[in-house]
Amino acid sequence: MIRFNQDTELTLITDYDEENDNITGEETEVFKAGEPVDAEIIAWINGGEYVDLQFGDGSVALTVQRDCFTHLRDHLFSPETNCCVHCGISAEDDCIENGPCVPSGL
Ligand SMILES: [Zn+2]
Repeated sequence: MIRFNQDTELTLITDYDEENDNITGEETEVFKAGEPVDAEIIAWINGGEYVDLQFGDGSVALTVQRDCFTHLRDHLFSPETNCCVHCGISAEDDCIENGPCVPSGL
């Protein structure tokens, strides 16, 4: 999951002809700031300054500026410490449901 920091318009590749290396379907979509979007990073470009994103429906956006969105993921709690191994938040923390897992430095 990701969440855009500001309203962002992206060109999504909805159809791709792998045989001829041709984009056969494109559409423009506007994502609202703060709205969770089902998308994952599939490629890092230029040392992580840009990324390629794949959305839940299979469409792909190329060369998206990395700092225009926040990458969200589920907390992964260690059975030993009861704290998330990514961001360090405690499973007993009350505010946990409000906060996505955002490791420092990402
Ligand atoms: Zn976490």
